[in-house]
Amino acid sequence: MIAENVKRILAELPQGVELEAAAKTRSAEEIEEAIAAGVKIIGENYMKDMKRVYPEVKLKARWHFIGSPKTQKHDLLKIKYLKAFDMIETVDSFEVAQAISEKCARIPKIMPILIEVNSGREPQKSGVMPEEVEDLAKKISSLKNVKLMGLMTMGPRFGNPEDSRPYFKQTKQIFERIKSLQLPNVEMKYLSMGMTNSYKVAIEEGANLVRIGTKIFGERR
Ligand SMILES: *Cc1c(COP(=O)(O)O)cnc(C)c1O
Repeated sequence: MIAENVKRILAELPQGVELEAAAKTRSAEEIEEAIAAGVKIIGENYMKDMKRVYPEVKLKARWHFIGSPKTQKHDLLKIKYLKAFDMIETVDSFEVAQAISEKCARIPKIMPILIEVNSGREPQKSGVMPEEVEDLAKKISSLKNVKLMGLMTMGPRFGNPEDSRPYFKQTKQIFERIKSLQLPNVEMKYLSMGMTNSYKVAIEEGANLVRIGTKIFGERR
């Protein structure tokens, strides 16, 4: 089932759009099935999931952190997990970026990061407010051991994916604006937006990295 789902999604994704399997709560076996079927990027929200599955998954993949860094700093900033992750998509403050950079200097490694935008301005959601992204990008560009490579957003959850469009559109505008600044040490390459319900609209609005969970693995238990 997982393999069929992955193949169906991969077949329909336009050129240049990468599939990330959002793997929270899933087992190492489920993740391996997705990788075997062609998934190249695994996204994890929770360090407790990462600790459980990362040592078990033997097939090669790129691992992205897509959870809240603030509440999981203690584990995320361990050297072994900074080595394990290929990208941190959810940077939402200079302090977090600085802490990642300082720890990565010890490996040494330059961690690719995205800034998470709270495009829906939802108080309960993480991410920086749209008008604060540019300033944060400028500050991050001075850090030696992280490299800003784009933006990520969730956007509010809607039944109708069309309702997500304005939030994706706005995030794309911020992405293009920052790209046009040509900041040193910044390469605006990834726009991570869209989930099971909304990824088609997100791609229409410029996403080139889509984070899909349910449509790959089925309903979460
Ligand atoms: C769970 C999750 C997804 C995928 O959600 P689905 O609706 O299951 O596709 C994508 N991004 C993040 C940050 C998530 O937590």
